[in-house]
Amino acid sequence: LTFLGIESSCDDSAAAVVRWGEKGGEVLSSVVEGQTALHADFGGVVPEIAARAHAERLDGCVERALAEAGLSLADVDGIAVTSGPGLIGGVLSGVMLAKGLAAGSGKPLLGVNHLAGHALTPRLTDGLAFPYLMLLVSGGHCQFLIAHGVDHFQRLGGTIDDAPGEAFDKTAKLLGLPQPGGPVVEREAALGDATRFRFPRPLLDREGCDMSFSGLKTALLRARDALIAEKGGITVQDRRDLCAGFQAAVAAVLAEKTRRALALYLPLGPAEPALAVAGGVAANQTIRAGLMAVCAASGVRFLAPPLRLCTDNAAMIAWAGIERFRAGLGGPTDLVARPRWPLDATAAPMIGSGK
Ligand code: ATP
Ligand code: FE
Repeated sequence: LTFLGIESSCDDSAAAVVRWGEKGGEVLSSVVEGQTALHADFGGVVPEIAARAHAERLDGCVERALAEAGLSLADVDGIAVTSGPGLIGGVLSGVMLAKGLAAGSGKPLLGVNHLAGHALTPRLTDGLAFPYLMLLVSGGHCQFLIAHGVDHFQRLGGTIDDAPGEAFDKTAKLLGLPQPGGPVVEREAALGDATRFRFPRPLLDREGCDMSFSGLKTALLRARDALIAEKGGITVQDRRDLCAGFQAAVAAVLAEKTRRALALYLPLGPAEPALAVAGGVAANQTIRAGLMAVCAASGVRFLAPPLRLCTDNAAMIAWAGIERFRAGLGGPTDLVARPRWPLDATAAPMIGSGK
């Protein structure tokens, strides 16, 4: 079974071809064209610019993905496209292209939830069995999910304001470091003293898996301004120590909330208990070490798929399409673009970037 996947919900135009066979999932090609440079001057993704770039580039991504897989559209068994959540202009670009391709080729078309794509990735890379625990940590998302089945995700909690990646990016900005902030802040932090500045660990006093990261940024800003007021500026070492303190706080919150998520997940009695992470922030070694320690303490397998499959890509969309197709779920009739689309329909309305 071979699927073409298309992704355009944020600032990456992507297409991929994935096959499912006896050995499980196999990525035949995965093309991702980022738009970082297009949005660099605006301090964030500009929806209008993103939509236009997707409209211009998606065609080419699909052509390349098929060529790299050595296939033509006639060879695939279906087309999967991200139909939400995300920036509506971008999502529509992808959905319209996919509808055109499906109409022209007569192939089945499946709409995929972007978050379900992330959440099902550990099954593509490692054939993970349900139920497993999933932590999504990126520039736009932060949430714990239990993956019970292809179409059954339970949200345990998430950020009530900023996503951690966003916090890393803002920290970099406040300290005059380049974007994306995550890798740079991690590099600086490695040279810093994490004990010099003690930043808050928000919501640890509150039960459950909800998190908050916006206060951290304010605390960092205050610490920076105090240094500036004191001695007229911050030194290279100050900056490293600030980064280290910030990173330690994020890692501590994620580790503690993971412990609580495991306490909700393990009573289900999973045959192969596992925590999988997705999202760019999962690349952070300090954060990873914290999560691995929590997992090791509970005998839970820790799994981090390769970063190119953890950040936005279309292979996860093609794979989710395959999973849905195999499960007999979804046809073209329910394919509408949805800017907001919580994975867990029973969950309370979500706030801010915890969508
Ligand atoms: P989403 O996929 O949820 O829409 P996104 O496209 O911003 O959001 P990703 O591409 O998964 O998310 O990840 C990018 C984010 O990850 C950025 O905010 C970046 O700063 C952060 N990041 C990348 N590497 C690291 C790292 N080593 N440490 C911390 N954060 C990191
Ligand atoms: Fe994503």
